Amino acid sequence: MTKLLGVIGDPISHSLSPLIHNGWLRDNRIDAAYEAMHVSAGEIGSALETLESRDILGVNVTLPHKHDALAACTEATLAAAKIGAANTLTFKAPGEWHADNTDAPGFMQALGAIDAKKERVLILGAGGSARAIVFALTNDCIPITLLNRTVSKAEALARELGTDQTSFGDITQYKEYIESSTIVINTTSMGYDGNILELPAGHKRTFFDISYGKVAAPQLGHAAERGWQVKDGLSMLVAQAAFSFKSWFGMMPDLDKALQRCQAAVKAAL
Ligand code: NDP
Repeated sequence: MTKLLGVIGDPISHSLSPLIHNGWLRDNRIDAAYEAMHVSAGEIGSALETLESRDILGVNVTLPHKHDALAACTEATLAAAKIGAANTLTFKAPGEWHADNTDAPGFMQALGAIDAKKERVLILGAGGSARAIVFALTNDCIPITLLNRTVSKAEALARELGTDQTSFGDITQYKEYIESSTIVINTTSMGYDGNILELPAGHKRTFFDISYGKVAAPQLGHAAERGWQVKDGLSMLVAQAAFSFKSWFGMMPDLDKALQRCQAAVKAAL
């Protein structure tokens, strides 16, 4: 019997997760299908109940359900519990679901090895994705500065998930902080409104925008022009998907192959 997997969200039709996972399922000759599942806010509990009658193996969860998904599960990893959000659910038994958060390891995999003693990381934005990123970096003892439009959210995030080496402030001060940073991570969704941050010269420092495609293209184009080494969010998207795949099937899939498929799809949509 073909097993079912999927991604739950709203909106969901844009999601690259079916492309990533169905590619890996085909590559590894696994008898399962991965679907995009449109579920409105507040309805994840009933959606999981419905899926239990469909030979479900597990689901990814995206906006706006990551917080509710954790609450809907009967058990969770320490990472998901601490971050306060889940993006990977595994069906255990009727009424029993396991919650994990693979955004954190996915982000670290995409960032690559860094020297905690040398790097100074500036994070822009303090929304849902920043929570997983702050958790991942501080877990590896990497000092960070967190700037957000709503300063109280940056403060709360730094207090809940940071260490005594985590500082916070207002995003309007980014130019002041950027000079002493070696890695800048843009987790804001400002690209959706066509806004970009004007950057000083990068001198080959890293500018990692976790968005991708049309949303990130103007910001990344500007950063590259100013001499930053740029990275978009596709590598993080693929890596978090790979950790989900590993938790369902016990093996790491081919990240490069999936990244190439996603890059081709994004290029076609630009
Ligand atoms: P949230 O809605 O939780 O957070 C959005 C953040 O952006 C908040 O900090 C918000 O500030 C800030 N923001 C929004 N508009 C502006 C603006 N005009 N100026 C300054 N700051 C602004 O979103 P997520 O954290 O879930 O997602 C953020 C981005 O990351 C999205 O583009 C999403 O697609 C991408 N993403 C990529 C992933 C990947 O795997 N590559 C995974 C998850 C997300 P405030 O708090 O003041 O409202």
